[in-house]
Amino acid sequence: MEDLPGIKSLFSLPQNVVILSHRNPDGDAVGSSIALQLYLIRKGHKVHVIFPSEYPVNFTWMPLADEIVIYDLMPGRAKELIQVASVICCLDFNSLDRIDKMGDLVRESPARKIMIDHHIDPEPFCDFVISAPEASATGELIYDMILALDDQKYIYPDLAECVYTGILTDTGNFSYNISPAIMRKSAHLLELGVDNNKIQELVYNNLPEKQLRLLGYCLYHRMELLPEYQAGLIFLSKEDYSKFSIVRGDTEGIVNYLLMLKSVNIAALITDQNGIIKFSFRSKGDISVQALARENFNGGGHKNASGGYQHTSLKEAIEKFKQVLPKYAQPVSSFNILN
Ligand code: 5GP
Ligand code: MN
Repeated sequence: MEDLPGIKSLFSLPQNVVILSHRNPDGDAVGSSIALQLYLIRKGHKVHVIFPSEYPVNFTWMPLADEIVIYDLMPGRAKELIQVASVICCLDFNSLDRIDKMGDLVRESPARKIMIDHHIDPEPFCDFVISAPEASATGELIYDMILALDDQKYIYPDLAECVYTGILTDTGNFSYNISPAIMRKSAHLLELGVDNNKIQELVYNNLPEKQLRLLGYCLYHRMELLPEYQAGLIFLSKEDYSKFSIVRGDTEGIVNYLLMLKSVNIAALITDQNGIIKFSFRSKGDISVQALARENFNGGGHKNASGGYQHTSLKEAIEKFKQVLPKYAQPVSSFNILN
């Protein structure tokens, strides 16, 4: 956190702040953005949150969530807010292509820019950077920053619950990417007033019926196993999207089911979202889907959870995945030895 003194002095004067996070925002994107927003409002700043695309309905309960500006729905408003901002905070992403058309607006803006993120290899477009790939969630970094600034008094239960949600969703409900430190911090968040049962109900036990039926459909009709590579994939076509009226968030978590198979170490969800093919990758242990996504699918993320995209047919996308798979379907350590 060597840039913390710079961030502290920036916020010693009232600022007009815009907080941005990545397209298809997940629990950590929404939770960390709103946590930072609540903190900065309590410190006397004017703050707006903008996302490129809509966020899943199971995060609408967060405070101020209904005031989030969605670029896809209100591009003019989003543009105006970015243009008048004195500080732009980029949360849970580290390259401008993750915020679509807003990338150019951010690049051209004279505002001071802060990145707070936990993905590998940050792009150098910010004045101040808190980048910690070892962190479990960007929400964790917001918590760390507030404590490092000696401002724990601003962490009311509502803010703590947003941070906690970011941690929950980025660790698969504390099942991966955890550390002794994150468990201690989570315990502290409970002490600060987080109601775990309430958050579990809101975030997880909140599915619309069609989402559960979609999961069943994916597992029964759309799952293919590739035993020679300890891999599996699930695909969804354009027709599937209209048949189930799939909207953002409905496919969340489906890719993880593949990893429940003992025989699967590497998993992909490949979806045809109207001309753009989206990939969601997951892996176990030392297998890096970050490398797979970065080197082949215009993407990136974390070692065990990454994503990417390409503009081809669904069939070509599935073939490409199968074609590149052999190179990655082995632990990084043995891969290094072999190459
Ligand atoms: P998910 O599969 O849940 O959409 O994303 C898993 C991880 O991969 C997240 O950390 C997300 O930030 C990252 N990710 C997803 N899609 C992309 C992408 O198109 N580009 C990059 N660089 N990262 C992605
Ligand atoms: Mn995250």
